[in-house]
Amino acid sequence: MPTAVVTGGAGFLGSHLTDRILSEGWRVIVLDNLITGRAENLAHHADNPDLTFIKHDVSQPFSIDEPVDFVFHFASTASPVDFIRHPIETMLVGSYGTHNALELARIKGAKMMMASTSEVYGDPMVHPQNEEYWGNVNPIGVRGVYDEAKRFSESMVMAYQRYKGVDTRIVRIFNTYGERMRLDDGRVVPNFAMQALRGEPITVYGDGSQTRSFCYVSDLVDGIWRLSQSNYQLPVNIGNPDEYPIRRFAEIIQALTHTDSGIVYTEFVTPDDPKQRRPDITKAREILGWEPKVSLEEGIRRTLEDFKQRV
Ligand code: UDP
Repeated sequence: MPTAVVTGGAGFLGSHLTDRILSEGWRVIVLDNLITGRAENLAHHADNPDLTFIKHDVSQPFSIDEPVDFVFHFASTASPVDFIRHPIETMLVGSYGTHNALELARIKGAKMMMASTSEVYGDPMVHPQNEEYWGNVNPIGVRGVYDEAKRFSESMVMAYQRYKGVDTRIVRIFNTYGERMRLDDGRVVPNFAMQALRGEPITVYGDGSQTRSFCYVSDLVDGIWRLSQSNYQLPVNIGNPDEYPIRRFAEIIQALTHTDSGIVYTEFVTPDDPKQRRPDITKAREILGWEPKVSLEEGIRRTLEDFKQRV
């Protein structure tokens, strides 16, 4: 039975990835300090002998006392509101944490995947974003703690691939939503959904003309798994290319929740909010035979069910 280590495995994405790896017949060791992850996300595996949970901050050194086949480095804050709450931790997990994950892979002779992000493209001057675009990031902006840590992580991963012979993967994850997102994580899907469900006005930042493209979590995890099983060692975008202005997205959420409590336009929570974002997924299509399958309507419907149960 192969063994995977998943850092951040109690988080939104990490826990869905853990489910998938277990369902493929692997053992999983999760490392998570629960700063933004939640133990409840893995509660359904409480009696599963194939899952081990270790509460640990992966920015601090660690060792694993058994063979490891794959290290998935998914520990990080991921919401702009959380970057503001935990700026130093965000930088440390994307530097020391990445180094520790790579060292574990090197010592164990394991493969390693790093969870990167569309934020490496910053406020992009190329649209849609393909993997060859180098990005437009403000290093000293509020988002810089995340963007630059992820860019540093990609450099570190490539250095371990080139100079230490570690077999690595880089997935650039675009906006993703689904069950288990924290209701208070500040991202657009939980914010809009909870505001609509509570009958409160929806808070659109700026004039709402900025765009995002939303991928349902099961599609995303399928792309990640396919990349892990491929031989491709350069970054691959995984995300849904359906793009919406945020103002339009607010209307969609109101329609799907059958509410109309209005929209208020407010200041941006983080400056440097990217004006447009849509993945070019040509590589994922050609190399992994992957593309998203779940419609926004279906994905939001499933997500709302989960949110309602947790209110
Ligand atoms: N946003 C918004 N209202 C909210 C939360 C987010 O208008 O209550 C906007 C935000 O300005 C951004 C987009 O929605 O343009 C996506 O924000 P999110 O925090 O989900 O992630 P990002 O893509 O910015 O990392």
